[in-house]
Amino acid sequence: MSKRDYYEVLGITRDASDPDIKSAYRKLALKHHPDRNPGDSASEARFKEAAEAYAVLADREKRTVYDRFGHAGLGTTPSSGVDPTVFEGFDDILGGLGDVFGFGDLFGGRRRAGPRHGADLRYDLKIVFEDAARGSETTLQLPREEPCHACQGSGAAPGSTPGTCSECGGHGQVRYQQGFLTIARTCSRCRGVGKVIVTPCEACHGAGRTTRERKLTVKIPAGISTGQRLRLHGEGELGERGAPPGDLYVVVHVGEHPFFQRDGDDLLCIVPIPYPTMVLGGDISVPTLNGDERIVIPKGTEPGARLRLKNKGMPNVNGRGQGDLFVEVQVDTLRRLSKEQHALLEKLAKTMGNHKVEPRTRESHSEDRPFFDRVKDIFG
Ligand SMILES: [Zn+2]
Ligand SMILES: [Zn+2]
Repeated sequence: MSKRDYYEVLGITRDASDPDIKSAYRKLALKHHPDRNPGDSASEARFKEAAEAYAVLADREKRTVYDRFGHAGLGTTPSSGVDPTVFEGFDDILGGLGDVFGFGDLFGGRRRAGPRHGADLRYDLKIVFEDAARGSETTLQLPREEPCHACQGSGAAPGSTPGTCSECGGHGQVRYQQGFLTIARTCSRCRGVGKVIVTPCEACHGAGRTTRERKLTVKIPAGISTGQRLRLHGEGELGERGAPPGDLYVVVHVGEHPFFQRDGDDLLCIVPIPYPTMVLGGDISVPTLNGDERIVIPKGTEPGARLRLKNKGMPNVNGRGQGDLFVEVQVDTLRRLSKEQHALLEKLAKTMGNHKVEPRTRESHSEDRPFFDRVKDIFG
C-alpha cells in the first residue's frame, strides 16, 4: 500500500501558499471530523490523513524535505502516522472547534499537555405526561465532586507547596525525536501539571476534590418527548486542576397517558360513541389537554373515522405552535340499557329482519391501517 501524496490529500498544488494550505486543511478537517460522521471509518481515515499532510506541509522545514525526498525523506511509513498533538496552533485553525470536538479522544491522547476537561454526566429523568404537555420545573439532587476546601483544590497539605516535577523539569511535557519529527508527550509523572505534591492534603488525600450533594433546578420545556436531552452547561464533572468542567445531560423519559397516544406533536384519543349518535349525528364531549370540549359528530359517521381538532395536540418543544388532536370514533354497543331503550332497540331490530350481511373488503378494514393516516378532516 503506497501513501498518498500530501498535496493530493489536501487538494492543492505544489506551489500552494501557507494560507492556501491552512484553508484546504481546515475545510477537510471540518468535513471529515468524526463527530460529524459518527461511525464512518472512511471519514475518520480521511481526517487523519489530512491532519498528517497538514502537519508536514505547514512546517517549512518538513515541507522542504518532503518536496525533495517525498515520504521517504520524512521517515514515515504507511503505518507510522503522525501524532497531530505536536501541532502548534491547532486550535486556531479550527477556530476553537477543537474543544467541542474533543480531538484528544480521537487520537488516543491529549490534544495538548495540560489539565483535562471534566467529563460530561448523564442523568435520566422520568416525568409524567402532563408535565411534558405543560412544561415544568424540577429539582435534582446530585452528588458532585467539588474542589477540596482544606487545600483549595491543590491537593497539597495546607501550608505546604507542591514541588517541581523532576521527570519533565516542570514543563508538563516530555519531548523526543522520531525521524525528523519532534514528538511531545504529556509527562506521565505529573500528568502535565509540571508539579508534584510532596505532602498530600489530609482531607482529600491529595486528590484536590471532595464529593458533595447539590441541588439543581431544571426547566422542562412544554412539548418535550422521550429521549430528548437538556444540557446543563458546566454541571458535569470538574476538570483537572482548574480546567473547565464537563456538562450535565438530563435525558428525559415521558410517561404514558391513560388515553392520549402521542405521535410527535399530534395526539390520538379513541372514544366510543353511542350508535344512534353515529347514524343521526349529534354533539359529544371529548377530553383534550385543557379539559373537556364539545365536538360535532356528523350524520352517518363510520366507526374508525378520525376527527381532527386543530392545535389541540402537544405544544411544539421549539415553540412552533401546537400539534393536532385526533379523535377516533368507535361504536359504543350500549350494554347498559334502560327498559325503554331495550324495547326501542328490539323494535328497530325487528325492522331489520331482511338485512343482508356483507363482509368488509380488506381495504376498508380500519384495524389494518397505521395511526394517523386516512384522517377524516372535518375540523381542519
Ligand atoms: Zn484537599
Ligand atoms: Zn512532569
